[in-house]
Amino acid sequence: MIALPGERLGVIEAFEPKGEFIIKDGYIYSTKLSEVKIDKKHKIIEIRPLKKGIANVGDIVVGRVDYVQKPFAFLTIVSALNEGLAADLKGMIYIDQDFEYMPITEGSIVRAKIIGMSAGVLMLSIDGPELGILEAYCNYCGGPLVARGRNSARCIWCGRVLRLKLAPDFKSKALPYRVILE
Ligand SMILES: [Zn+2]
Repeated sequence: MIALPGERLGVIEAFEPKGEFIIKDGYIYSTKLSEVKIDKKHKIIEIRPLKKGIANVGDIVVGRVDYVQKPFAFLTIVSALNEGLAADLKGMIYIDQDFEYMPITEGSIVRAKIIGMSAGVLMLSIDGPELGILEAYCNYCGGPLVARGRNSARCIWCGRVLRLKLAPDFKSKALPYRVILE
C-alpha cells in the first residue's frame, strides 16, 4: 500500500519497522509518501519512500477514471506535480449527491485535488474551478466529445449531450472521420 506523509502505520509492539519512519507515542508513522510492505509472518513493516513524484494532501494530480460505481469513481493516478509517479497509485472520488448527474465518465482523464487518504487509496475531489475533466469520451458510443460551455459536452458521433464537470482547459476531441476498429 501507499502511505501519505504522517500516516499512522502500526504499533511498535506489533511490528519491527524498517526504512524511513518516525515513532511517536508507541506508533509508527511515515514521514514521506512511501510504499509500505507488511510481513506478518516476521512481524516486519517496511516503509520505503517513493522516489518519483510527490503527493501530499492539497496537491493536484491527474488520473484516469478506471470505472464508476455510484457514488464513487475509481482512478489510477497518471501524474502528480508533473512528474511520473510509481505505478499502482490509486485514487477515488466521492461524487456528492448534490450532483443529480454523474459528472465524470469512465475512461476520462481528470485533474483532481488530494483531500485525504483511506486504506492506501488517495481520496480526491474535483470540486474547484480548475478541477474536472481534461479529456473524455462519450459513455454511450465512445465517440469524441466537444465542450458546450463549462458543464456539458456533445458527442460528435451520436450527438448526445452529456452533463460533465469540465476543467477550463478541457480538450475537445475532434476527429475528421469515424474510425471503425474491427
Ligand atoms: Zn456518443
